[in-house]
Amino acid sequence: MRHSYDDFEVSSYQDYSSVTIPGCVTVQSKRGCHMKCIYCSTPFTEWTGCRSRKIEDVVGEMGVYLNEKRGIKRFFLADNVFNFPLSNAKDFCRGVIKSGLSIEWQAIINPAYGDDELFSLMRRAGCVFMSLGNESGVEPVLRNLEKGLRLRRSE
Ligand code: SF4
Repeated sequence: MRHSYDDFEVSSYQDYSSVTIPGCVTVQSKRGCHMKCIYCSTPFTEWTGCRSRKIEDVVGEMGVYLNEKRGIKRFFLADNVFNFPLSNAKDFCRGVIKSGLSIEWQAIINPAYGDDELFSLMRRAGCVFMSLGNESGVEPVLRNLEKGLRLRRSE
């Protein structure tokens, strides 16, 4: 069965000349964002409901179609907020670990979510780079941006 990657020279996007980024192939495990940051277009372009793909489909796409068939080893998880839902992010990491894939990847993280277990799983699954979308270290700015996070978590 043909896959859409069969018509696309995806390997030309991989670049090993940098230590981490750029030069990775993009994969998205979910669309949409439940947050409402006032400056962001994503809730309009991808909608506010977060729709996750099946973990086995995402890991299969990375493993079979991109790693095995095309030798891709570096990925960018282009989810708007990789670590939401938290359980979904952990399941993705477990899926990669279970698959035995030897890959490196990066993701965008919202500081409002996450725990030690997630970060440990991410490391074991090959995550080498996290972009933290904190935007500001000033409480009133965070509030005005409606980032959905504060400088300190209320445990
Ligand atoms: S969390 Fe990120 S993607 Fe979601 S609304 Fe805020 S800036 Fe946009």
